Amino acid sequence: MTSPDHLTILYRGPLASCDYDCGYCPFAKRRDTPAQLRVDRAALERFAGWVADAPERISVLFTPWGEGLTRSWYRRTLAELSHLRHVDRIAIQTNLGTRPSWTEAANLDTLALWGTYHPDQVPYERFVARCGELRSRGVRFSVGVVGLPEHLAAARRLRDDLPAEVYLWVNAAEGHTYTDAEAADWAALDPHFAFSRHAHPSAGHACRTGESVVSVDGEGTVRRCHFVPEVLGNLYDGSFRTALGPRPCPKPVCDCHIGYVHMPELPLYDVFAGGILERIPALWPPAANTVADTVTDTAARRTGESTRA
Ligand code: SF4
Ligand code: SF4
Repeated sequence: MTSPDHLTILYRGPLASCDYDCGYCPFAKRRDTPAQLRVDRAALERFAGWVADAPERISVLFTPWGEGLTRSWYRRTLAELSHLRHVDRIAIQTNLGTRPSWTEAANLDTLALWGTYHPDQVPYERFVARCGELRSRGVRFSVGVVGLPEHLAAARRLRDDLPAEVYLWVNAAEGHTYTDAEAADWAALDPHFAFSRHAHPSAGHACRTGESVVSVDGEGTVRRCHFVPEVLGNLYDGSFRTALGPRPCPKPVCDCHIGYVHMPELPLYDVFAGGILERIPALWPPAANTVADTVTDTAARRTGESTRA
């Protein structure tokens, strides 16, 4: 057992509804009933209460199945948690569809948004305007796209129109294999695309999850990450604490940024230092030679090829 001074939590409550309907959405879509929404709200408020009283420093990335920021309780909780002295970062994955006026109530030194652009779900101009509004409000955020061929033109246009200070990440599409030429197209937009292009072999490899990073669901069930079902304990009875410690990954590969970013064999805690949860590189915008070095480094560090799960 170890007792980290800082605990990173990936929180995913039962909320599953979304105002968008992306064809590539990895999550089963549903309409949440009023009763389900009440359960989600109560679960989030209980989690927020635990964070408020936590003895260690805390960072949280909310990774809802659906869209959280359309719900008032997510907006309020993010704003409230961002003011706590022992909270280093409060971030959420979002489609950025919700007007950002709610961020006025937040501590913008702590709040951050992981934004995703879904080209077939939102008018381009509206999305770019939303990014501009976030910038003018001083909100810290990244923007990304799923690297599907049909998204490339829109992603290029977005990269051209966004200020250089805004990092645009690209996720390799699920089940999609990229030729070197295709990968180069995406890497021209995101110099760190090489980390996403292939799944990372992980069986038996070290991973900070289960030690200083955990996944928590709406009932407080603690797992090491969203991808390994083994339960470590519960957040609310404290039983998870005795299970914290180093343990190798049991999965053959890790193909999601919110997972492999925590593998110490990858340099991502350095690449994204200060912005690990919201996916913002430490050096951004990078100097041209830094970009080239990063891509080369990534290829060199790869220990083996694998197919995305
Ligand atoms: S915005 Fe995200 S959660 Fe909503 S449908 Fe698209 S991929 Fe799924
Ligand atoms: S490498 Fe990925 S799948 Fe394995 S334990 Fe870490 S986050 Fe989970």
